[in-house]
Amino acid sequence: MSKPIIPIVPEQLVNDPSKGDGLGCHAGEKQMMDAAKSSGKGEVLQRYAQDYPKGPHDQPQSMCPAFGSLRVGLRMRRTATILSGSACCVYGLTFTSHFYGARRSVGYVPFNSETLVTGKLFEDIRDSVHEQADPNKYDAIVIINLCVPTASGVPLQLLPKEINGVRIIGIDVPGFGVPTHAEAKDVLAGAMLQYARHEIMAGPVQAPRTGVQTKPTITLLGEMFPADPAVIGAMLEPMDLAVGATVPTREWRELYQALDCKAVAAIHPFYTASIREFEAAGRPIVGSAPVGYEGTAAWLEAIGKATNTPQDRINAAKHKILPAIKAVLG
Ligand code: SF4
Repeated sequence: MSKPIIPIVPEQLVNDPSKGDGLGCHAGEKQMMDAAKSSGKGEVLQRYAQDYPKGPHDQPQSMCPAFGSLRVGLRMRRTATILSGSACCVYGLTFTSHFYGARRSVGYVPFNSETLVTGKLFEDIRDSVHEQADPNKYDAIVIINLCVPTASGVPLQLLPKEINGVRIIGIDVPGFGVPTHAEAKDVLAGAMLQYARHEIMAGPVQAPRTGVQTKPTITLLGEMFPADPAVIGAMLEPMDLAVGATVPTREWRELYQALDCKAVAAIHPFYTASIREFEAAGRPIVGSAPVGYEGTAAWLEAIGKATNTPQDRINAAKHKILPAIKAVLG
């Protein structure tokens, strides 16, 4: 006797994401992608495909990619983060964020098939953003469309760009368009840098909390261990350079500091959208990180060249750190 096949995902739901709140990562990437494209999200998905190529092994099995964006938002001061997605996804994402010590509420705008197809979900999101936009509490509110709202074309781009002085950042971070949480961090960091860059072009902006650096700075791109900026700062010192902001930043005003640099050290390789913003601001990008003997030598040379540092200072920076690395590596 043949065994019945359990219908884990009803076909109707697979073919039409608007049919309910029960879809998950298993719902069929192609169908979700097709639905999103026909709902007006084709351009953003095309950009993600170009920015974050999957490579020969396709998408790795990992936690929900949107966690990357959520984490970036939750780690910033005076920033509210709101999710728009299926309840099961939101449960998983909030659980993971609190497991990682978020100590911050995660906003959620629930939906059902009716609010999704009638456009009421978008109105609910807009209402919640208006309700939250208190300039005494927040510099920015981040709204993240998860898989189903993205596939259904919920138009976060139509939200006001600013309410009562609070910046509104709406991003689509679907698991079928952003490979892993690493790239999702860039989606939010890039969107924030773009917003901050336009603010800078429009007029004066806030200085960093610790004041403006007197030396030219190198912005570090990618999450760092706490000691990394100090160590890298010591390496840069002979070149008369200082470490500036680290992106993703911990506060909105640090975005201005990040853009106000002499060059950007792209320590992590995933930050394509952020790099695009730095390049638009005319900042040179130096890839890779100071790792190992040859790697550190090449990195210091590249930073020196990108910042027009005289060769004797570049050599001084190398002589300061390379013998110590050699001694450790043997
Ligand atoms: S939002 Fe994340 S958890 Fe939800 S279906 Fe998409 S990839 Fe899966």
